[in-house]
Amino acid sequence: MSKKELNLENEYSPQDRYDDLNGIEPNFWKTKKLEDMNKTEWELLCDGCGKCCLNKLEIKGKVKFTNTHCRFLNCKNCLCKIYYHRFEVVPDCRDIDLNAVREKPRWLPKTCAYWLLDNGYDLPDWHPLITGKASSVHEQGYSLVGRELVNESEVDDYENYIVDWEDL
Ligand code: SF4
Ligand code: SF4
Repeated sequence: MSKKELNLENEYSPQDRYDDLNGIEPNFWKTKKLEDMNKTEWELLCDGCGKCCLNKLEIKGKVKFTNTHCRFLNCKNCLCKIYYHRFEVVPDCRDIDLNAVREKPRWLPKTCAYWLLDNGYDLPDWHPLITGKASSVHEQGYSLVGRELVNESEVDDYENYIVDWEDL
């Protein structure tokens, strides 16, 4: 298997993160600012919705989401097929750090846990840290699973794919 074919799905189960929360401060997201979180806490906040892997356009200072997705996204489970090498393979793949969370105009979906917490909101009740189930984001309809999506490799004009979903 080549490096680029290494697939996160083969070695990673999203549920594992929530099955072993030993050593994690309960409700840490209520007491810590994003900038004070450690790497494990930061990673736990990602609900795995996949919506940051949609392609976007910036039009007149506003970010417009499209229903086209990065070619390396597995739309069945919202996992990146090249997670460990994503920045080498996809130059415009963004690391989700504080700068990304605070960038204006906002390009993370409004359900994104990082954006919510940084803007004074609590986690939604379907978030895996609340439910204990990584799948709850999919079951409650807040991920890309089950949506009408187009692989970016099939797209010529992104403007034809702008969507106005209420959770973006
Ligand atoms: S939008 Fe936010 S919560 Fe959803 S996958 Fe991206 S970083 Fe994680
Ligand atoms: S390369 Fe980046 S944008 Fe593409 S699926 Fe992976 S994480 Fe998402």
